[in-house]
Amino acid sequence: MHSNNKNTSPRDLNLPDTSKKRTSSAALTPPHNSKNRFSPLLNLQDTGETNNTTENDSTQQPQVRPKIPPIYVYNISDYENFHTSLDNITFDNFSIVNTKSALKINLNSIDDYRTATKHFDETEIEYHTYQLPENKQLSVVIRNLPVNITEACIYNELQELKFEVASVTRLQNQFKSPIPIVAVLLSKSSTEIFSLNRLLHCIVIVEPRKPSKDIPQCTNCQRFSHTKKFCHLPSRCVKCAGDHHYSQCQKPTDVPPKCVNCNSDHPANYRGCTFYKEISRTKNKNKTSTNPSHGKNHTNTIPHANTQNTHSNQDNTNMHYTYASACNSNSNNNNYRGKSAKSTDNDNDFMKTLLPLINTFVTQLMQKIIQNLPVIINSLNLNTNGAP
Ligand SMILES: [Zn+2]
Ligand SMILES: [Zn+2]
Ligand SMILES: [Zn+2]
Repeated sequence: MHSNNKNTSPRDLNLPDTSKKRTSSAALTPPHNSKNRFSPLLNLQDTGETNNTTENDSTQQPQVRPKIPPIYVYNISDYENFHTSLDNITFDNFSIVNTKSALKINLNSIDDYRTATKHFDETEIEYHTYQLPENKQLSVVIRNLPVNITEACIYNELQELKFEVASVTRLQNQFKSPIPIVAVLLSKSSTEIFSLNRLLHCIVIVEPRKPSKDIPQCTNCQRFSHTKKFCHLPSRCVKCAGDHHYSQCQKPTDVPPKCVNCNSDHPANYRGCTFYKEISRTKNKNKTSTNPSHGKNHTNTIPHANTQNTHSNQDNTNMHYTYASACNSNSNNNNYRGKSAKSTDNDNDFMKTLLPLINTFVTQLMQKIIQNLPVIINSLNLNTNGAP
């Protein structure tokens, strides 16, 4: 809707840019090869990958480049104007991939990424994106912390121990009861947390948080695969599909909800939604066919907590770790979220807690049987010998 960039000067739009400055990431980006300014890749299919263009890379030596999140831009009616202004403000080459609902912009440097998102903000271009790798945090779970220890208490204790902790969240099982596991977000460098084996006198285990199988849904616009923290799209109501945030919804309770994704009479975060199921099916198919190693790298794809009251010193909306599996932003609006969406992570956690108990029980049982084996055999012998 904002294809005419009102804040962009004619100079920006019409003249070759001679004022581009290379800043801090110069060493990390490829040499500025000649751009073909008039060859946008408009009609390619979206591969769903987070590919950054490499066609202009220098072949002489490998260069370390930071991974730049793609930016999905919506409702561009004047493509030429959009393309020209983006070309003028960016330094490196970029590519545009046409996806079903948006243009996917792949930029090649962090500087260009920042410039572009700033430009989109200023010109009110609608977009969503993902977290920059440098802003990612370390996400772990701490097991065996009794449920009566509060998040605040754990948070304070971790701070006492000089961990740079951002948030502590008590996890819940599928019945919304707290379990003895907390999720903790820390600064990226806090890897010593993995050596922690006691906390508040409890013997604990610290592990990287597991990847989520759930597809994140934005609580601002109800679209999938991104979260509200990186959403610059207009709000769409989870309850009535109206163009407002759900907190402003005035739908009377006796009026059925309406899903903005499929138009059926359920809230947009209902996991039985046909739209969600279709996305889920496609995604799983792609995952098995294109990415056999998915899930190996635990620290890269981290689900968000099924939170109750996260204790945090910042907006804990979500840290995501890959572009495609960003986290699941649960605020207070998930009353309709099906249990399939929330229970996987906790089911596993629950089983992990339960398994040692079962193990112990079975071992003790076996010992008892072995101890009493002579008695049992004796009684069997008596029976077969035809006692009177
Ligand atoms: Zn969104
Ligand atoms: Zn509404
Ligand atoms: Zn639906």
